[in-house]
Amino acid sequence: MSLSGKTAIVTGSNSGIGLGIAHELARVGADIVLNSFTDRDEDHALAESLAKEHGVKVRYIAADMSKGDDCRALIAKAGTCDILVNNAGIQFVAPIDEFPVAKWDAIIAINLTSAFHTTAAALPGMRKAGWGRIVNIASAHGLRASPFKSAYIAAKHGVVGLSKTVALETAGQGITCNAICPGYVLTPLVEAQIPDQMKAHHMDRETVIREVMLDRQPSRQFATVEEIGGTTAFLCSAAANQITGTTISVDGGWTAM
Ligand code: NAD
Repeated sequence: MSLSGKTAIVTGSNSGIGLGIAHELARVGADIVLNSFTDRDEDHALAESLAKEHGVKVRYIAADMSKGDDCRALIAKAGTCDILVNNAGIQFVAPIDEFPVAKWDAIIAINLTSAFHTTAAALPGMRKAGWGRIVNIASAHGLRASPFKSAYIAAKHGVVGLSKTVALETAGQGITCNAICPGYVLTPLVEAQIPDQMKAHHMDRETVIREVMLDRQPSRQFATVEEIGGTTAFLCSAAANQITGTTISVDGGWTAM
């Protein structure tokens, strides 16, 4: 498979799953636009090193996915968007009656509404080209719930619904839209949850990982960023031309239960 000549925009891609996806798409020849809300030397250096490693063009464009105007400006500044990966996301855990309103608003904005804005901005170009791929990084929590994650679960279920709707609106136009639903992947987002879980459950790190985090993941193994990247690349391949409006779980069996 080659994605040579295609440009992929990956939101929230200066770390974790987004960066893993950027690596896999670059490895099969796509030019890449990396993004996050920061604009540091190290963000631009990351773009340079990815370009060098894979021999493709890589740019870093700062844009805050909590702001609709920034989302649309990201697509405009990139100029071309053949592949759009909506990956930016944050998490916050609290009972619903204690859930801070600002955290609810931020999670819905970054994890869900950003995908509405970027998709709306990217579709005209994809329609003109007669080809496009939209890959939304949802979660096993887009299909199943857990307590204390109301905003995240509402947003991720929303992402799955948005993906289906966009698929119907683009069917037969050479454009597909799907959601990938990862189980636990060991990234900074998950790493940050471990100390709180250790405190809450009075367990050490390894026990929390095995007994709490991976409790619902029958494989008892984290999925990797390379696996999420590879699944994204597959959805961009010709083999996936007729795969649209669906979810692909990469969750070690979580949603089989
Ligand atoms: P991460 O914290 O490593 O990465 C999140 C990325 O989003 C970072 O690059 C961060 O800079 C960026 N980001 C955060 N706020 C932003 C904003 N306002 N504007 C632009 N970028 C912003 O986390 P991750 O685990 O790699 O998560 C990536 C995606 O995968 C998220 O949507 C997350 O919900 C989803 N996901 C993660 C897991 C997991 O276990 N790690 C499981 C299922 C789904």
